[in-house]
Amino acid sequence: MDTISLDSLTALDTLLSDEEKLARDSARRFIREEFLPDIAGHFENATFPTEIIPRLGALGWLGASLEGYGCAGVGSVTYGLVLQELEYGDSGLRSLVSVQGSLAMYAIHRFGSPEQKERWLPPMAAGKAVGCFGLTEPDFGSDPGGMRTTAKSTSGGFILNGNKTWITNAPIADVLVVWAKLDGPGQEHIRGFILERGMEGLGTPPIKNKMSMRASHTGEINLTDCFVPAENILPGSGGLGSPLACLNQARMGIAWGAMGAARACFDAALEYSTSRMQFGMPIAGKQLIQKQLADMAIEITKASLTNLHFSRLKDKGRLSPIQVSMAKKNSVAQALTIARTARSILGANGISLEYAPVRHMLNLESVYTYEGTNEIHELIIGRGLTGVSAF
Ligand SMILES: Cc1cc2nc3c(=O)[nH]c(=O)nc-3n(C[C@H](O)[C@H](O)[C@H](O)COP(=O)(O)OP(=O)(O)OC[C@H]3O[C@@H](n4cnc5c(N)ncnc54)[C@H](O)[C@@H]3O)c2cc1C
Repeated sequence: MDTISLDSLTALDTLLSDEEKLARDSARRFIREEFLPDIAGHFENATFPTEIIPRLGALGWLGASLEGYGCAGVGSVTYGLVLQELEYGDSGLRSLVSVQGSLAMYAIHRFGSPEQKERWLPPMAAGKAVGCFGLTEPDFGSDPGGMRTTAKSTSGGFILNGNKTWITNAPIADVLVVWAKLDGPGQEHIRGFILERGMEGLGTPPIKNKMSMRASHTGEINLTDCFVPAENILPGSGGLGSPLACLNQARMGIAWGAMGAARACFDAALEYSTSRMQFGMPIAGKQLIQKQLADMAIEITKASLTNLHFSRLKDKGRLSPIQVSMAKKNSVAQALTIARTARSILGANGISLEYAPVRHMLNLESVYTYEGTNEIHELIIGRGLTGVSAF
């Protein structure tokens, strides 16, 4: 009997330009030929193939949606499609690209001085300098406005003290965008600072024993009387709105990326179910398995179309933060459900790293929490609908 592929079902191609399809296809090729063969080993050993970072730059995927300074300047749909393919590989890879482009580079591009942009953006776009974005603190995650990291004005610059935690790329970063309160306790005093590896008083120990995002470097940023020269403050930053604007920038990409992980899990479950024989026939012939596959395909189609529609709105400057929250929350929650279902369809083999679902399932637990937890996005949507803030 004829079958229909997920790509044909979503029929996304009918809504994409040739340029968008080309970018997606080249990311797809890269992931399948160069990245997937080794990723399970990296996940198991908690390593990341850092040697591919310049290659990601050469392919135009670092800071891809930014204009100038060696960045590709692509539209939101192209960027999203590339991130989707990268996360088909692994959420750790997509996280690196998101943090580099949508958080660290975006912060410098939007709030930096012309000299800061000239100095940092070209090497970051080329993958010759790795960036990170330090907002979360041990006692302030969902509520970053309470942060305790301080910057005090001093002769020639600032003295920074405080601790950031759960920072993607921190242990390998050359450029660290750190948010701190300058000369005052209120949220309005929050400013961005560019820190550079090697500065005295700056430590970036890795966070060990992660059971999620194992193929990603996550760490702390510890600041002890760290002197930062005056020219390293992001002059355009001011208030909590500045880091939040960066997060908002990254979240549509995360919505796309999560669907990449979901697609990888769907593909694994479909393939396994057609070859796994139980009760004298492939389990794909069982109605309960077919219902699970059908539900996955429906949710992937719905989320993909939402991501596409919202990204088109973004390029027209008409996307609201509430819509971004809807896309992030929905894509990630659906992807996590799909990953768990795929894991179950693979039975005992589903818990082995030989197959992708358990790796994606574990990674998606992080994606569910970072860039605004699932619940915080629900609260943002609820506030938008009711006009009453519940947080
Ligand atoms: C792998 C990984 C990478 C990360 N990378 C970065 C990075 O690069 N940079 C960075 O700055 N941060 C990063 N983070 C941190 C991430 O952004 C935070 O973990 C996230 O904001 C949640 O903060 P928290 O962990 O302190 O949880 P908390 O804020 O303590 O939340 C705990 C629980 O309480 C719920 N909750 C909180 N407030 C409310 C409320 N008002 N109403 C209802 N429920 C609520 C949350 O939804 C959650 O379920 C990363 C995290 C992970 C896991």
